Amino acid sequence: MGNIFSNDKAGCDMALSNGATIVLLSTLILSGSDLAQTEWEQELVTWLAEHDQTIYGLGVVGFDLDEIAWNPADFEQEKAFLLALTDLALRRHRWEVLDYDPPFALCYLTDFRKLVECYTAEMVEGPKAWDWFQPPETLSKCPLHQVFVHANGCLLCHD
Ligand SMILES: [Zn+2]
Repeated sequence: MGNIFSNDKAGCDMALSNGATIVLLSTLILSGSDLAQTEWEQELVTWLAEHDQTIYGLGVVGFDLDEIAWNPADFEQEKAFLLALTDLALRRHRWEVLDYDPPFALCYLTDFRKLVECYTAEMVEGPKAWDWFQPPETLSKCPLHQVFVHANGCLLCHD
């Protein structure tokens, strides 16, 4: 069992084991939490953090890039932010926070970046709301890990 991360409209996807999924999401939110400035950027990182298998179960937290609440008017900026946080993660940003050495994280992040690169403006179907498992009451960070928390807590505390 594992999780599929996809860009169906471009016909590409990546399958990760449950353990690899935690590594991908943890490295993305460590960098994204430091980079996020706008409300949308903070929501994106919170939404990524919400794909928390400890709360929602193993093998049910994969997503398609189409599920992101892209705004057609701001799409290029929003995509640039997702690429920038992935690039920062690829530079091992704050990996010392993790209590393990993620040897294959660079491969997962490189594959994830390719999915994002292939997602283009024509694929965005109008403004839409975030599809939360459970909407967060506020956008706030874990005091221990300084990453955005979801409605049911911190992905890194749960790991
Ligand atoms: Zn935490």
